[in-house]
Amino acid sequence: MRVGNGFDVHQLVAGRYLILAGVNIPFEMGLVGHSDGDALTHAIIDALLGAACLGDIGMWFPNDDPQYRGAHSLDLLRAVSQAVQGKGLRISNIDSVIICERPKLSPYFLQMRDNLASALSIETDQISVKATTFEGLGFVGRGEAIACQAVALLQ
Ligand code: MG
Repeated sequence: MRVGNGFDVHQLVAGRYLILAGVNIPFEMGLVGHSDGDALTHAIIDALLGAACLGDIGMWFPNDDPQYRGAHSLDLLRAVSQAVQGKGLRISNIDSVIICERPKLSPYFLQMRDNLASALSIETDQISVKATTFEGLGFVGRGEAIACQAVALLQ
């Protein structure tokens, strides 16, 4: 058994789509990023890479590489999943948490889990998505950013 953890923060600004786990969530702001800014998928990628001792997302998909401009993060997750499987590892389960003041995300959890499970070729029951707030404190609490954390267990 191998465990890995991942963490990511992206700034929230007007004029961007808010995409988390590939779900385009209706909101007046979205996440800045070289790719689609999908901080949840990025945290999960880093958890998987960490568990497999395969480096980190910045090594795999440099944010100054034009090839990844506007990239769909679920495609990046799919590539990482294949690398993990290539090492003879398979995903036992993944747990994640989105730290976000607004909008309310629970209506989108199931779609997020379905998207992630599909990209990873696992069952929806093997991936958990949760959310919490920073109780109004700090940059996340002021709605300036969304942070995500993930843990992955591989066998
Ligand atoms: Mg990121």
